[in-house]
Amino acid sequence: MPKIQTPYYLIDEKKLLANMKKIAYVREKSGAKSLLALKCFSTWSVFGLMSKYMDGTTSSSLYEARLGHEKFGKETHAFSVAYSKDDIQKLKDISDKIIFNSVSQLEMFYDDVKGIKVGLRVNPGISYSHFDLADPARKYSRLGVLDKNEVMKVLDKISGMMFHYNCENGEFASFSKMLDLISKKYEEALKKVEWVSLGGGIYFTKDGYPIDKFCKKLSEFRERHGVQVYLEPGESSITQCCELVTTVLDVVKNIKETAIVDASIEAHMLDLLIYRINAKLSEKTGKNEYIIAGRSCLAGDIFGEYKLARKLKAGSEVHFADAAGYTMVKKNWFNGVKMPSIVVKRLNGKIEAVRQFEYRDFVRSLS
Ligand SMILES: *Cc1c(COP(=O)(O)O)cnc(C)c1O
Repeated sequence: MPKIQTPYYLIDEKKLLANMKKIAYVREKSGAKSLLALKCFSTWSVFGLMSKYMDGTTSSSLYEARLGHEKFGKETHAFSVAYSKDDIQKLKDISDKIIFNSVSQLEMFYDDVKGIKVGLRVNPGISYSHFDLADPARKYSRLGVLDKNEVMKVLDKISGMMFHYNCENGEFASFSKMLDLISKKYEEALKKVEWVSLGGGIYFTKDGYPIDKFCKKLSEFRERHGVQVYLEPGESSITQCCELVTTVLDVVKNIKETAIVDASIEAHMLDLLIYRINAKLSEKTGKNEYIIAGRSCLAGDIFGEYKLARKLKAGSEVHFADAAGYTMVKKNWFNGVKMPSIVVKRLNGKIEAVRQFEYRDFVRSLS
């Protein structure tokens, strides 16, 4: 097999399978169904594997819902912060459930969605997030209905409720406490609906997460309110199963040594730049200090500062870890930098370059 040219995202199905098995375990033990949150990960070449273990997809827009329907199958949940009339017309044919973000949108489109299960997003006023930018209960949040009385008034129009209030929450105790608060606060409403989505942001596939306690908690919630529980894992579905593989093109020195790779954090791992987090490397540490930077002309296009066991020079490969979630869905053509290919290592060990991008794709992204 010819060596694949860098840069490329490398998805390892074996690692993906480990997450999928945990998700299936939660379903089996607790009855909670899991829907892949497409806004985190939409790389459909591995949906064949994922759809064996998950129950469908949830979305943030018409296009995501359509992708879920066409490429993943099973249940398609539609959500949008605000639908247009045209979105609703198209979503009607492909969605099992349509979840509204506000009472005004629910009322606006209620007659159009007859025959489809309708849900309402509720803002429980509590959340877990390390970042204000990603906190759905932040001040003035537009995400979900905050006023409980408003929810109560439209209960006869909905069959389900969605609470998305976690972001990378790896602490079971905090999840559990917040779920109790929701159970209590919305007891009356929860008794009337058939299904409840607890959203994403729960890091239950992480090593060491008390998964059995989590399952027990979900079962208790299901029994107490008599509802079908849904989870919407994005990051926890695909965590630690992908690398961004790059090659060092140059090493320059300005007091510190900077290795410049053939990719860009701005274009290919943008989420890390927005949240100001260093990219993780999958290699041993040592005493060789480097800044590793992208090749775009943005001064702050920096993956991070590292202490490595090896020396870097032009031609060295650098593998950034955890490059699946919120990366490929956010990649862009800034600086016209060569777009990383998408490569999948299948369960049987076969390596497939499933997508390669060319100059033509850059041209086609604009007009
Ligand atoms: C972002 C989001 C998710 C997925 O969140 P992760 O942190 O990636 O698990 C699920 N549901 C909703 C409504 C979301 O906005």
